[in-house]
Amino acid sequence: MSRVYNFSAGPSMLPESVLREAQASLPDYQGLGFGVMEMSHRSKPFQDIVQRAEASLRSLMNISDAYAVLFVQGGASTQFAAVPLNLMNGSQSADYIDTGSFAGKAAAEAKKYGTVNVVASSKADHYTHLPVITPDLFHADADYVHITTNNTIYGTQYTTLPDTGKVPLVADMSSNILGKEYDVDQFGLIYAGAQKNIGPAGVTVVIVRKDLLGKAQAICPTMLDYAVQAKDGSLYNTPCCWSIYVAGLVFDWLLAFGGVKAIQQQNEAKAKAVYDYLDNSKLFRGVAAKADRSIMNATFVLTKDELTDEFVKFALSRGLANLKGHRSVGGIRASMYNALPLEGAQALVACMKEFEASHA
Ligand SMILES: *Cc1c(COP(=O)(O)O)cnc(C)c1O
Repeated sequence: MSRVYNFSAGPSMLPESVLREAQASLPDYQGLGFGVMEMSHRSKPFQDIVQRAEASLRSLMNISDAYAVLFVQGGASTQFAAVPLNLMNGSQSADYIDTGSFAGKAAAEAKKYGTVNVVASSKADHYTHLPVITPDLFHADADYVHITTNNTIYGTQYTTLPDTGKVPLVADMSSNILGKEYDVDQFGLIYAGAQKNIGPAGVTVVIVRKDLLGKAQAICPTMLDYAVQAKDGSLYNTPCCWSIYVAGLVFDWLLAFGGVKAIQQQNEAKAKAVYDYLDNSKLFRGVAAKADRSIMNATFVLTKDELTDEFVKFALSRGLANLKGHRSVGGIRASMYNALPLEGAQALVACMKEFEASHA
């Protein structure tokens, strides 16, 4: 069996060396005679796995002791509720920037627990760009400001972070965590579902400034209370052991690659190859505004719309899988997360060229 270049938006491609290592240890982890899926989460080998994963992530993102790192469950969508339940504890209001469907869902969920002010939105333009954000948009008494650093469905990303003054910045970083360097100190809280750049679906990473902990709303479920999860080292109950294990392997793969700076350079090279082609093509056209283009998810359309399905099939015949755009947007989306090598993006460009030559 040969592996394809997988452009899936998530769950997405994992490094093959990680899959092979996980496969090899499946029935027998380090000579124990049983695998990680069969191991008590209270056992020493599993404690070592969690601690090592946390240490590797801290090293990759340069996370200081002022922050807790949590491995929780429920995906980013559960964080849409956990964030307000934990942080809407002062004015019980928060500012949200609406840059896509996940950002919209986060705001809608937060409304159940307090006042949500959507201070900027690009919805009217189908989220093809980010709204203009100036410091005066924010409420000084907001408990936090929520952004989505990379808009997976629309293919946009922030190039600079909004200046929120003293108000903690909270980011859904699900689709570009570890794909691009960030200064964690600029955030009050970062959360990310694993299935794009981290590992198998199931585990969700939360990085939260410790001074924000311990003030959850009274109705906050115990499982969603960050202070509880932090106190118990993400082991309040049975965590998703296997996903945490594989995430740890991905972290170590990325460290060996050279870290986030090195992979960001590769991600930028991949994106540049694809966008440069789109900007010079007569058949393909990028959807997102140039200034806000994501280096993780490239969205584009064919000027001859009726050729879209044919192109997706053609690409698959060339070993390029899962290029169809999100069902709500259509067109093509090439998700080029960390595990996709530069050759994958180059193969996509060659494929578009070949298709364009025969369909001009
Ligand atoms: C994929 C994604 C989500 C949804 O994550 P789940 O883990 O499925 O809940 C939320 N936000 C962003 C930015 C995403 O890319």
